[in-house]
Parts: sequence; C-alpha cells; structure tokens
Amino acid sequence: MEIDLDLLAYLVGKGSRYIEGAVQGTTYLPRTVAGVGTYLLDNDGNVDLLTSKQQVTYDKFLKPLLFAVPCRGVAGDGVCPGTGLIEADFLLKSYRDDVLCCRSCRAAKAATATA
Ligand SMILES: [Zn+2]
Repeated sequence: MEIDLDLLAYLVGKGSRYIEGAVQGTTYLPRTVAGVGTYLLDNDGNVDLLTSKQQVTYDKFLKPLLFAVPCRGVAGDGVCPGTGLIEADFLLKSYRDDVLCCRSCRAAKAATATA
C-alpha cells in the first residue's frame, strides 16, 4: 500500500489534532507518532526503512489514519451505506474539512442540507 505523502504531511503538520486524538488514552506521545511520520516523509513513504519500534508506532497510529478511517455516516452515528470507510483519495479533503464521511455520505449530507 502506497502512502499518500500529501496526506501524511497534513497529519504531521496542520492535521496534528488527528494524531493527538489517536494516541489519546495510550502511553504514546503525539510527537513520537509525528516523528515516525516525518521520517517516512523524508524517505518517500518507504516503510521498509522503519525500525521495528517505528513500525509498531506506524501500524498502531499512522496506518489507520492513512488507510482505514471509519466513515461517521450521514447522521454522524456511524451508519454508512457505503463500505464504512472513507475513500483513500477523499481522506485529505475530509481531514481538511473536518467532516469524516465517505463520498456517498458526504453527498447525502449535502443533499439534506440543501433540501
Ligand atoms: Zn459513509
């Protein structure tokens, strides 16, 4: 799975609140996770270069934020008519807008808003 470097750059930069949210309740520090993210950015997203410790951090926090973000559903209750995940190419926009919905839910939401 190829890492979307723009997405990763957003997460370690302006979108750091998502990393902070992910580590909440764990013993990990946001800067540890962001550090692994920055390392990956410096290495074109090549996860093979990570140490085993970095790999654990990556798998635990960054991978889910990059590849498996659950759609919150049209009503925000997690009921999603789609796959239940936000499309990879739609993630950056979702993070930026702070609307964590897949395309179809987002479209349904927009339709409800204008109805
Ligand atoms: Zn959805």
